[in-house]
Amino acid sequence: MSDFLEQLTRRLRRKQAEEPARGAVESSEVDIAGAPPSPVAPPVRLPTPAPEPAVAPSLAAAVPRPQARAEHGDIALVFAPDGPVAHLLGDTYRPRQGQALMARLVKRALDGGQHAFIEAGTGSGKSFAYLIPLIWTGSRAFVSTANKTLQNQLWEKDIPALRCIAPRPFTAALLKGRGNYVCQVKLKELSQQLTLPGLGPSIGDLVARLEQTPSGDVEELRLFGELRDALTVGQHDCLGRRCPMLSRCYYELARIQAEKADIVVLNHALLAFNMVLDGQIVEPRDVIVIDEAQDFVHYVVGALRLRLEYDQVPAFVNDTVVMRNADDKLRGRTMQANHELFTHLAQSGDQQQQNEHRWASPDELPLAGKLAGHVNSICKQLMKRYPPVPGGGERNEENARHQTAIEWAGQLADAILSLSRAVPEDKVRYCEKSSPPFRGGRGGRKGPGKRPGKKKEAHIVLCQEPVEVADFLRESLWGATKTVVCTSATLTVNQRFDYFDNGTLRWCVCGRYHLLSFQSALA
Ligand code: SF4
Repeated sequence: MSDFLEQLTRRLRRKQAEEPARGAVESSEVDIAGAPPSPVAPPVRLPTPAPEPAVAPSLAAAVPRPQARAEHGDIALVFAPDGPVAHLLGDTYRPRQGQALMARLVKRALDGGQHAFIEAGTGSGKSFAYLIPLIWTGSRAFVSTANKTLQNQLWEKDIPALRCIAPRPFTAALLKGRGNYVCQVKLKELSQQLTLPGLGPSIGDLVARLEQTPSGDVEELRLFGELRDALTVGQHDCLGRRCPMLSRCYYELARIQAEKADIVVLNHALLAFNMVLDGQIVEPRDVIVIDEAQDFVHYVVGALRLRLEYDQVPAFVNDTVVMRNADDKLRGRTMQANHELFTHLAQSGDQQQQNEHRWASPDELPLAGKLAGHVNSICKQLMKRYPPVPGGGERNEENARHQTAIEWAGQLADAILSLSRAVPEDKVRYCEKSSPPFRGGRGGRKGPGKRPGKKKEAHIVLCQEPVEVADFLRESLWGATKTVVCTSATLTVNQRFDYFDNGTLRWCVCGRYHLLSFQSALA
């Protein structure tokens, strides 16, 4: 077993020894049939459903609005053989008992302000089973997915179809991370160049396509590779609220639309970052549906992870503002310190460990402390050469770039300093080989970043993350949200929710939640 695994195992054992016994945790599951709950009872298993048929567009326009009884009464009526979903989907529709029961359970959780954990096999029609209760009850909710296929299905197929049968109009928005939208500042810079990077359209074509694509979404625009990199920004490139083009910023407009919308479709990474940032990306909601919930904890760990790659420091040192305002010798010493740190990390494991993907980092890293000191000195030089100008000066682009570089320097110095100290009791620190190779750049996302070292050193990443995230989830998800619906095709192990329960559910502070599981073969 590697040092890393031993380190992790030791910390987990210590943590488990401090926790109360599993049987001491209060749980009050209510199954779908209303039977009395038993502690972590085997889930209800239902007959198997048929796959979700495609919506027939010609039928959708002619679908009658549903009866008020379904809006205020039993939501399962929406799925009845003569109900709105049947009218919407036409001859291809086959009522599925599991889908209707899942919708009923979601509505019960919404009405009662409880959470629900629902395992429903592939082809169960999960998306209608949670979207319909959300829309029918007028909920303002986040719907989070792990993969683009499901996100596209919700946004392009399910939500437009449900507009045809919803009892009232509703609004919806799709929100992605900042790097998925064209940046107006980058577009302006590129428009001043004679040629565009990579194979792609001329700047005239691009502007014309943007007029047809008001979202500015790079996927909709089919921008890939070098051109996409040149037109988008990472966390540290973005001028944020100081940006002189903020009122035309596609990402900002997407955020504003998301704030107003009833249903916001987003992905797990963005939802997790929003929780870590206390709702700074988009105002938290009372209702969250997490589809493909088996993956969500990994995204939460990722959002809480501190990560330092070889190329981050060169990208910072070679930033235009830093090059213009920081002393050349200090920049050189910073690059050298970065090189020494990563050489040390590369040699920190023994031969066997270095052949593994991960190995334990040394507990304390004085070389990282030295590097943090240099980055901090650059930060001070930036502040001295161009001290923050409050008020109206923030609309000035040059000033905005300078302030952004100062913030970047401060955040980078803080992160490296944290990684230099002894590993906290509730965290684990490790080195890993980055795959695929890091693309460099501001915010650790892209850019050239020179690599004055051996090739293998450039692919090492230093990471620090929490041993477990149950406390974080208790405070930031279960306790902060009225209703969380977690669903997936694989939430149970051996037909029990114990595994999921051990990971996250036991910390559910409401003390009351619903469990349901059903299979996916044809009914
Ligand atoms: S705020 Fe400005 S710099 Fe940031 S993405 Fe928008 S346009 Fe680009």
